[in-house]
Amino acid sequence: MFGRVLKIDLTTGKIQKNKIPSKWVSDFIGGSGLAARLLWDEIDPARDPLDPRNPFLWVTGPLTGTGGPATGRFSLCGRSPQTGLWGESNIGGFIGPELRRAGYDILWITGRSPQPAYLWIHNDAVEICPAGHLWGQADTYETQILIREEVSEPRARVAAIGMAGENVVPFANVMADHGRAAGRTGMGALMGSKNLKAVAIRGNNEIPLVKAEEFKQLSKAANKTLLEQNMTSMFNSLGTSGAVDYLQIIGDMPQKYWTAPTFDGAPQISGSEMASTVLTGTRACHGCVIGCGREIHVKEGAYKTAPKSKGPAYETICAFGSQLLVNNLPMIIKLGDICDRFGMDTISAGNTIALAYLLFDRGLMSVADTGGLALHWGDAQPCFTLLEQIARREGFGSLLAQGSRALATQYGDPDLAVQVNGLDVPMHDPRAFSGQALVYVTSPRGACHNQSDFFNVELGGTLDEIGITMTDRWQDSGKADHVMRHQHWRTVCNSLVVCFFAVVSPSELATLLNAASGTDWSVPIMLKSGERAWNLKRAINCHLGLTRNTERLPKLLLQPLTEGGQEGHIPDMDVLLREYYAASGWDEATGQPKPEKLNSLGLGFVLPFS
Ligand code: SF4
Repeated sequence: MFGRVLKIDLTTGKIQKNKIPSKWVSDFIGGSGLAARLLWDEIDPARDPLDPRNPFLWVTGPLTGTGGPATGRFSLCGRSPQTGLWGESNIGGFIGPELRRAGYDILWITGRSPQPAYLWIHNDAVEICPAGHLWGQADTYETQILIREEVSEPRARVAAIGMAGENVVPFANVMADHGRAAGRTGMGALMGSKNLKAVAIRGNNEIPLVKAEEFKQLSKAANKTLLEQNMTSMFNSLGTSGAVDYLQIIGDMPQKYWTAPTFDGAPQISGSEMASTVLTGTRACHGCVIGCGREIHVKEGAYKTAPKSKGPAYETICAFGSQLLVNNLPMIIKLGDICDRFGMDTISAGNTIALAYLLFDRGLMSVADTGGLALHWGDAQPCFTLLEQIARREGFGSLLAQGSRALATQYGDPDLAVQVNGLDVPMHDPRAFSGQALVYVTSPRGACHNQSDFFNVELGGTLDEIGITMTDRWQDSGKADHVMRHQHWRTVCNSLVVCFFAVVSPSELATLLNAASGTDWSVPIMLKSGERAWNLKRAINCHLGLTRNTERLPKLLLQPLTEGGQEGHIPDMDVLLREYYAASGWDEATGQPKPEKLNSLGLGFVLPFS
């Protein structure tokens, strides 16, 4: 059983339960692929992204919560307040599985509650509850505790926004469990615009599996294989920042807002350093045998934490570490925790602040602009003030809250912001991997490594089964077809929904999907579905005004660094894009998918583009 929808209109309070057409499930699988199909009928380019009529979609996948390898995740989707384009962000923890156990695969929220509210979903019972006492008062962790007490259900799972979401900061996120985040594209702002503080869920049903016993055996075998993977050991022992030293050496890790080739302090902020100083345990999303989450305790000093606090992931380590040339790990941990509590994406918050440091360093900004704060590389102390100002939209923070593109524009040079289509570039430098550069400029949600982590392919993580093989990391010509197929494959993963950190083969996932849902999918059929969803997200963006003019890297990423692991290299975007459009069946002049491509995927209904 998949495609069970719980639809809630927060303006009217109307609650409906229904099912979506089965063809949509067979065409798009689930997760963000299916969300694109749901959103298509609702997209109106004339509306503001925060118009209450725009839907906010929570879409699980057919593997979510099944105990399959790293399948505790699901997607939050809608029109992005940060980019104005397609928005999606997937989140782990336990709340996606809980939604399915409550009897729903999809939560479809529209409207705007007249007063701050939270949803309480307990199997068939669905309530819209007042949240005025939480709004502006409780952070994302406190909200979870308070709502569990209020509904008298200690096992309820709660996802919440913080002050940033309440104040509709465009890069606000949604947080759940032990610091799990739907971090990117501002889904927290979309939630805040609906006056929705939180969603609490408790389900007591079994997640339906068509061939339950077969699935159990397959899942057991897949998890056993996963446990034997080197990557699993690395993520479990050292977390996602386990490869900091290596990534810094090869030129992948950004420093000094993308302008420095090396950072001597990298070893002091690495996963190994965390493991040998403050790590007290690991945390895993539902059913995951990898357990990349960090549980830490900084016992003393200015940045001490409570026991069992969340330790930062790689992106946060870079955002408040290498990007600011800060080597103080406890300080970075604290700044990451502040972002989590306010409910802000650490990638965009950190990058926007780092851009302010660059402007200050270059004399384009002074203490007169920053409210008296001196922004010097290596000193992250001002970040404590800035993060709070961003969340409250006060002082200098009210400008930073508009994001890096607005900040750079304010100071006369929009192209100085390291972003693509409004989304800040994540912490994998595209000058180190030309394939990743192509991913960033063509991703449907702006610069993103969760639509394709092609840098991992270029590091040796090939997918020979589907013809994605190793290429030279700086090779430009002859790579686009591999990148495109990897994007299609990762779209399948985001539809199932399966965590990218799990090394599981396509055929293994096809077998698991078939046992779970009683289908007869082959790997090529799954890939076709991925291509279909990828092109539909593209079509949504074309309707929303995306043109190929903005599919380019910002100028800082087109300036070669003079030493370090990526010395002298910049990707040839003209070659990469020309070959990519040809491989994709997209018009080179407009960037739009050609009618014959859309028709071959059953997407003719999106034509003509507005
Ligand atoms: S690898 Fe980490 S993020 Fe992925 S599902 Fe497992 S615990 Fe969650």
